Amino acid sequence: MASRPDGRDDFEIAIVCTRPFEYDAILRITDQHWDEIGDAYGRAIGDKNFYTTGSIADFDVVVLLLPGGGKANAAGAAASLRSSYPRLSLVLLTGICGGVPNTTSGDEILLGDVIVSKAVVQYDLGYQYPDRFVEKDTIETSLGKPTKNIGSLIALFETEFKRERLESRAAELLEIIQGNHQSNDLQSNRWRKISYAYPGTVRDKLFDNNYRHKHHSPSACLCMNCYSNSDPTCDDTRNRDCHELCCDDAFLVKRERHGEKKRWELDNQFKQAQAPAIFVGRVGSGDRVVRSSEERDRISRQKGVIAFEMEGAGLWDELPCIIIKGVCNYADGHQDGMWQCFAAASAAAVTRGLIEQYIKTDKMASIQFTHLLRKKEHQECLANLRVTDPRVDKIRIQETKGGLLLNVYDWIVSHPDFQQWQDDAECRLLWIKGDPGKGKTMLLCGIIDELSQDHTRVISYFFCQATEERLRKAANVLRGLIWHLIGQQPSLVSYVQERYDQSGKDIFNDHNAWYPMSEILTAMLADENLEDAILIIDGLDECVDDRSLLLDFITQSSSSQRVKWVISSRNWPDIEQKLDSAPRKIRISLELNEESVAAAVRSYIQHQVHKLAPFTIRGRQTYAR
Ligand SMILES: [Zn+2]
Ligand SMILES: [Zn+2]
Repeated sequence: MASRPDGRDDFEIAIVCTRPFEYDAILRITDQHWDEIGDAYGRAIGDKNFYTTGSIADFDVVVLLLPGGGKANAAGAAASLRSSYPRLSLVLLTGICGGVPNTTSGDEILLGDVIVSKAVVQYDLGYQYPDRFVEKDTIETSLGKPTKNIGSLIALFETEFKRERLESRAAELLEIIQGNHQSNDLQSNRWRKISYAYPGTVRDKLFDNNYRHKHHSPSACLCMNCYSNSDPTCDDTRNRDCHELCCDDAFLVKRERHGEKKRWELDNQFKQAQAPAIFVGRVGSGDRVVRSSEERDRISRQKGVIAFEMEGAGLWDELPCIIIKGVCNYADGHQDGMWQCFAAASAAAVTRGLIEQYIKTDKMASIQFTHLLRKKEHQECLANLRVTDPRVDKIRIQETKGGLLLNVYDWIVSHPDFQQWQDDAECRLLWIKGDPGKGKTMLLCGIIDELSQDHTRVISYFFCQATEERLRKAANVLRGLIWHLIGQQPSLVSYVQERYDQSGKDIFNDHNAWYPMSEILTAMLADENLEDAILIIDGLDECVDDRSLLLDFITQSSSSQRVKWVISSRNWPDIEQKLDSAPRKIRISLELNEESVAAAVRSYIQHQVHKLAPFTIRGRQTYAR
């Protein structure tokens, strides 16, 4: 859990919403609230915004409800937000939007899906004449590029692997917002007035492009004379749902993903049915609401946008911003109010899921965890301790091998031996062994991702590499593990600080470094605040210097301490011999799982070949999970 921030300078993330039900959805998945009594952190002179502060996944977060919709409101509030919270590195605009049901890239977007902005396009810059609107086509209407930090975060979710991970995390969070997990302590019963229930496919209606949202039963309004797409409808229709106006289901358009979801509902698989799909793309932002399929499709074709909303353009230029919005209508005039709350909830779920990922990206950027350790002497100590950033090593390894694929490692995480290691408190050592070329390192990357899904665990890992001097020393392996542990549990820094104050930085480097490092790690692992820690070392055979000391340490630690270990190595006799003495270890031999390994290697090769294909379309249409 994060500790209470000292002041507004400590806040790095802001979440901005426009409507109360968007705001409530966010508060339902906020871990801690910093201002239960009054406004804890105040605001800068001239700032009229009202803020709620709290924490989400170790980040201090300020939540802002805009005074109203539209670009001007958003821009004004954004300027004030920046003056009160000058250190924001990420602003997330969350809420609802209109979606393009069939995008130019062939995606089928449904109500409740979530759009993540890659760019923002202002679609209504131009001149409004009495009878028509002329667009300013001569100026570039696409707003500036996102900051590098945000650009790389978004790029992450353009990869299928990361996007699917985010989708499955969002599905869990959505249930928490809805209150389906009564035991979960993230939620409180104070906000039970709004229902974020899933409306179901029966209420997700896409009408034929020429079928208007108007009074269909005989009426005395403008709707009576509305026949073509350009004929006006009466103002009253804007506040009415389709069923109130008798919009006729005979004009519905059939869709593949919609049918798929319906089948899940019939199978009672509601969690799967309501889970939002995430689409990364360009978002259209303007003060004029798009309410016609014709206009929607025209702008979508011209500007490549996949969704429409009204505040993004106001924020985008002021602050480093990502728009995350749930689709509540198809921007064609037809509407069903029940989707608004649900779409806001699915957007809030994705917002939190993204923040959880931001931690990893951001920690990578601030390599010394400076935002976690506020005291200067701690920062200095940690900087000297650092031998490598294992998270960066992991990303490098995955990238050089062409990205991590779920089907390359899913066999091992569902393997009964792996399950036993995970479930049985007494089984503390999991040893994955196999000859070179069996993909051990990628398996471990996958295991790390799998175990990281449980955010209550502290996971520290290290990738040994014989060709790199600093990555092949036993003492450095421990340094890496210690450094990574402190990054996740800053209070542990005291164990290192004490020794560092006595002996200076030589303690990490000199020829005796192994001894203080093993003592420090042993003491840390005995710390009662460190629960459920998992230590992972890849490629023990590549740890060339003092390997036998490291093997002894693992054997001893796994038999006497609560920590769990995952290690991988080749089938080398000295490793076998040492680890054989570890009690209750679980051994998974890749040679004994030849079939799974071969299938994984095949799917990896297929993926690589597929990537070389000249042109591929992301296959949302088939929507097979
Ligand atoms: Zn009417
Ligand atoms: Zn309608």
